[in-house]
Amino acid sequence: SSLYDDECDYLFKMVLIGDSAVGKSNLLSRFTKDEFRLDSKPTIGVEFAYRNIKFGDKMAKAQIWDTAGQERFRAITSSYYRGALGAMVVYDITRWQTFENVKKWLHELREYGNRDMVIVLVGNKSDLVDSRVVNAADGQSFAQLEDLCFMETSAKDNLNVEDAFLHMITKIFEIAS
Ligand code: GDP
Ligand code: MG
Repeated sequence: SSLYDDECDYLFKMVLIGDSAVGKSNLLSRFTKDEFRLDSKPTIGVEFAYRNIKFGDKMAKAQIWDTAGQERFRAITSSYYRGALGAMVVYDITRWQTFENVKKWLHELREYGNRDMVIVLVGNKSDLVDSRVVNAADGQSFAQLEDLCFMETSAKDNLNVEDAFLHMITKIFEIAS
């Protein structure tokens, strides 16, 4: 409601990017609704979801944008990135190509995104230990090279999801306040 908006001191736009089926929508629903779906519906996505975070006596509203499946066609437009203060770049630890494609997503971020955007690299599906092909060390060293924060998550088992989003939001808050 508008009353609730009035109680917010900050509004932060953040975007989720990464290949199709890496788990972006489930990370978002886990963070904003504590929900996870085994069957995914890639073409029916919400545009964004909110969660309010308190920093001392200040309230920040995190507005997190999700794709509605446009990433399949590499058809994400510049308006998706416009005004975003943070980006979560997600890959799937069981599919090497999704990790390889992180470079493309970073390239797009640098082309369309805000210069001092907070970027967090996330290797999702850490619960799938037997099908892992991207080691945590691979993600970590790539993140270090690119000067990004890095975390592995499982939207399914709710591992590190809260940490990954809160890390990004906290960094944005530090810059904005
Ligand atoms: P998106 O296309 O990046 O938004 O990916 P989705 O969130 O739609 O997820 C794609 C598929 O991966 C779905 O079948 C999800 O149930 C599954 N998935 C998402 N996150 C995880 C996870 O952390 N672990 C496992 N095992 N499956 C996941
Ligand atoms: Mg999705």
